[in-house]
Amino acid sequence: MDVIRLLSDSIANQIAAGEVVQRPASVVKELLENGIDANAKNIQLIVKDAGKTLVHVIDDGDGMSNTDARMCFERHATSKIKESADLFAIKTMGFRGEALASIAAVAQVELKTRREEDELATSIKIEGSDIKDQSFVQGPKGTSLLIKNLFFNVPARRNFLKGNPVEMKHILEEFQRVVLSYPEVSFSLFHNDIEIYNLPATTLVKRITETLDKSYRGQMAQCGEDTPLVKISGFVGNPTLAAKRRGDQFFFVNHRFIKSSYLHHAVTSAFESTISRGMHPFYVLFLEIDPSHIDINIHPTKTEIKFDDERSIYTILRSAVRQAVGVYNLTPSIDFESDINFGNIATKIPSFNSLSADSRQSIQNFEINYSKPNSNHNQKPNQDNWQKLFEGLKPEKRIEEIGIGSSQFIGSKANDIEESVKLAKEGKDLNAIQVHNKYIVAQVKSGLMIIDQKSAYERIFYEKYLKEINSNKGFSQQLLFPKTVQLTPMDFEISLGVIDLIRNLGFDIEEFGPSTYIINGVPNQFSDEDEASAFKAIIAEYKHNENANEENKKENLAKSLSKRIASKNEREISKEEISGLINKLFDTSMPSISPDGKPTLVIVSLSKLAELIG
Ligand code: ADP
Ligand code: MG
Repeated sequence: MDVIRLLSDSIANQIAAGEVVQRPASVVKELLENGIDANAKNIQLIVKDAGKTLVHVIDDGDGMSNTDARMCFERHATSKIKESADLFAIKTMGFRGEALASIAAVAQVELKTRREEDELATSIKIEGSDIKDQSFVQGPKGTSLLIKNLFFNVPARRNFLKGNPVEMKHILEEFQRVVLSYPEVSFSLFHNDIEIYNLPATTLVKRITETLDKSYRGQMAQCGEDTPLVKISGFVGNPTLAAKRRGDQFFFVNHRFIKSSYLHHAVTSAFESTISRGMHPFYVLFLEIDPSHIDINIHPTKTEIKFDDERSIYTILRSAVRQAVGVYNLTPSIDFESDINFGNIATKIPSFNSLSADSRQSIQNFEINYSKPNSNHNQKPNQDNWQKLFEGLKPEKRIEEIGIGSSQFIGSKANDIEESVKLAKEGKDLNAIQVHNKYIVAQVKSGLMIIDQKSAYERIFYEKYLKEINSNKGFSQQLLFPKTVQLTPMDFEISLGVIDLIRNLGFDIEEFGPSTYIINGVPNQFSDEDEASAFKAIIAEYKHNENANEENKKENLAKSLSKRIASKNEREISKEEISGLINKLFDTSMPSISPDGKPTLVIVSLSKLAELIG
């Protein structure tokens, strides 16, 4: 018996839709890009319930004819490719003609569109690929696409969607990518009737600060390089802005957002020695390349890309970023706080030869330093000897990775730790001293124990807060003057997902207008004078951990808060505090490992010391 059958069109469409439409954010991306492709000057995005019940995009672009309005929902219906040669000259965002067909297969869609030259607009209603209605109506030039109840006919996919804060975060991510790439287009975004963004047409600099972070203002250097292979433009952040988390880094190739660890490496290596290891510079960089030199056959939902000549692009990009970063070294007197954008100044530093001899020398030195990866020219000499000793002794891998529990920490040294615990518990003095406000050094049987003060506090606070979240017993100290804190829309969405847990920790906090909270009280021990920025930092850290796929919200939050509080504890502490710290550390469940899985302490054996001293 033959068993092969053809799938029905509607099933085939639904399956195909799975490729393009994974979540509401995919719809947002496709519709915004269609608006851009249609030369819109204004694009409005309206979403409800993180796009689950409604995604509505209104543009004032070219619009469609009556026939095209019907056609656009057919699979492989596109106005952007006519012959195969076009495939190698793609300038538009879309070109596969799959998006609208896919969306219409899994949602209830209402299209209204009118071209300049037409008197009446076309209205079409389509549901699960079935046309329900087509008529002529009054309407403005441009296109309005209303997508209701995504996955209404595919319950499994609907159930697969995450909570609103997560879905909204994805939407905001797509939105940011498009708005950064097209500053000359004005955008607005409403979520549940609240205006989250209102971005008039502007310059890239302004778009960056308005979209990402106002504190970037005046902190960016312009980056530009024009070669026959690739044209580079955009901005890199002042090295002092570099953050621990990998946050705002954007590459656009021919206006398309892409991720590339290879190009990221080119940028970070250009920053080398102006930022410390593990820090990530901020950048928004545009690469323009002849489309025939890139693999256009990238999947619509993927963000990877292939270049013909990857290496040359790497080199050109790195040198462009180096020049931009070099500006900071050349002109230290520029006031970063001022409103004048650094980028404008950067453009006024034209060619190498037109610079003063001094400047040229300093560029050359800069280059030399770059080419010596180990050069220390930017390090404070006395700070880091201890640091180095500590780092040099760290086990190669994170403890978690090698699967060693705390009690066996670094093999034979376990006894030492147990012994110290015992002494500490008996209240015996370990003769510990603090060095550089960073490390605690104590004598142990086999040698020297060095505790990293910050990591130790992190471990202590982490366990405390985890307990408090779980028991809902966080103590709160009321603020004399409540503080408001405005988060970026993305961070706000993220915080909503954990707001109850945040309250458990002792934050007395309420929503207070768009993306804004009012803080009435903070957890005990919270010693930040600036509660608002501390709160922001905690959410940012939480976001970073979340990106690293950390599922457990409670652990993540406890980690984020303890990190913040510990960072405020890199200070001189008294002898009593030192022994308190050691006591509390050894009272935790894993004294030798920070919540991040890094060692909190190392033991340098006498023989190692002898070896070091030679
Ligand atoms: P693609 O963008 O890959 O061509 P889509 O399914 O996104 O495929 O869109 C199909 C076609 O519908 C487009 O090629 C375009 O001609 C038309 N279209 C879609 N959205 C709009 C819009 N907002 N304004 C004008 N035309 C549009
Ligand atoms: Mg498209």
